[in-house]
Amino acid sequence: MKPTAKFIFVTGGVVSSVGKGIAVASIGRILKSRGQTVSVQKLDPYLNVDPGTMSPYQHGEVFVTADGCETDLDLGHYERFIDVELSRDCNVTAGDIYSSVIAKERRGDYLGGTTQVIPHVTNEIRGRILNLAEKSHADVIIVEVGGTVGDIEGLPFLEAIRQMRNEVGKDDVLYVHVTYLPYIMATRELKTKPTQHSVKELRSIGIQPDVILCRSDYEIPESARAKIALFCDVKPEAVIPLETAENIYEVPSTLEEANFGEQVIESLRLQALSTDLVDWRIMVEKMTEEHDPLPIAVVGKYVDLHDSYISVRESLQHAGIHHERAVELTWISAEDLEQDGWEQGLAGASGIVVPGGFGERGIEGMVRAARYAREFEIPYLGLCLGMQIMVIEFARSVFGTNEANSTEFDLETPYPVIALMPGQREVDGMGGTMRLGNYPCDLVAETRAGNAYNASTVAERHRHRYEFNNQYREQLSDAGLTPSGLSPDGALVEIAELRDHPFMVGTQFHPEFRSRPNRPHPLFGAFIGSAKGVLREGGQHKLPIT
Ligand code: GLN
Repeated sequence: MKPTAKFIFVTGGVVSSVGKGIAVASIGRILKSRGQTVSVQKLDPYLNVDPGTMSPYQHGEVFVTADGCETDLDLGHYERFIDVELSRDCNVTAGDIYSSVIAKERRGDYLGGTTQVIPHVTNEIRGRILNLAEKSHADVIIVEVGGTVGDIEGLPFLEAIRQMRNEVGKDDVLYVHVTYLPYIMATRELKTKPTQHSVKELRSIGIQPDVILCRSDYEIPESARAKIALFCDVKPEAVIPLETAENIYEVPSTLEEANFGEQVIESLRLQALSTDLVDWRIMVEKMTEEHDPLPIAVVGKYVDLHDSYISVRESLQHAGIHHERAVELTWISAEDLEQDGWEQGLAGASGIVVPGGFGERGIEGMVRAARYAREFEIPYLGLCLGMQIMVIEFARSVFGTNEANSTEFDLETPYPVIALMPGQREVDGMGGTMRLGNYPCDLVAETRAGNAYNASTVAERHRHRYEFNNQYREQLSDAGLTPSGLSPDGALVEIAELRDHPFMVGTQFHPEFRSRPNRPHPLFGAFIGSAKGVLREGGQHKLPIT
């Protein structure tokens, strides 16, 4: 059956890392602001079945959907910009496609035929796209193909989206190509040739782009647009300049100003309302206002690549806007805190965040950061691993020994305050063996967390194996570590916080996946609210304002 949805396919040309994901997210926001329902899918041509097992250094953050899928970080942009909840159907990798095709071949589904890239792999890809259209009931499905045109592994995906034009009809499909215009210093000009080549490559596969979004770090002159239009055979108004924005949330307005929204509505014949980006624009204006700086230290293992903590960074910024503070992040490598003079890095911070992570490297540095936050009463937010670190540090001080630990880092510890739960111990293998996605959490009234949420139950996203060990719950609670969020059966500590501290809260889940620019996450909001009251100067300890 022909789907009722319309499709926008977005490909990339010239180079990667030019913000194709943000462009896609912005297209989604524009359409939503014109009354359309939108869903988004990322097609990733790599052979990993999902990005869950990839190092954050390779691929940045792993974004977790509410239904527990480990996905590409672009899904985070889509959720934040469009304010939609995406699902496992929204991220498809070549590894995932090939596993399905091979499983079908083994089952004999192809009736003895030769299994081939075309049609079997391309059919599988098209099936996934149509499946999302059917399940989401969205008016528009935006599909982003990862990588750039010309990548060998991307070919089956490009072929599949080419076939979609015939499958659903050419009036229901729009091809958008995102390219990059390099700037040549010597002649002071932007070059269009790589874009021309990239479009030529795309056309050799049978895809003629309808719209070309030109990314550039410099102003794009009219002549460059005209040249691209002529050589690439698109309407001049469909060559949209997308100069590097100071703030990524400006991109939807930039696209609207270039009349992109109108063009999409017209081409796809959508029953759209006129655009309403007013609230969005007000929000962006608020972001650009001058505010007092608020220095926040993020102590982690993968700090060299800030994309590893992209949702954490965004959540802190969202909360900063809400509290009218310019959050200034200092990224501190946890291992650096294991060296002499380690306090220096934390000396100026009004708040400390320890985000999620895996493995032993840097753990002792993170424990130092937690100790520092506890002793100097600096607001602390621990996210998953950061919560476990906070528990370990507190237990070490209560038990008077550095041996308290998580069994992830020390299997023989006499105080396994963080451990695998019974029933989890037999699990081996790396992919998909964690507690993933939404789980309910009951909040304890009159706690920092309970007050921040102002709700009795919330659902939050998880991605971890280890848990707070209940054997120590009573003892640590008596000593001042309050379990302020529990699974509804009371069996799992989901949030822990220090009773005698302005704000030291750790969550077993990842609240950063739910923050929105116009709706900061309550815990990030409360953390920044508390950090706002901490004035630091050089190495000075806190000077409470109130
Ligand atoms: N490594 C820890 C665990 O598996 C924490 C995971 C995380 O921070 N996402 O439980």
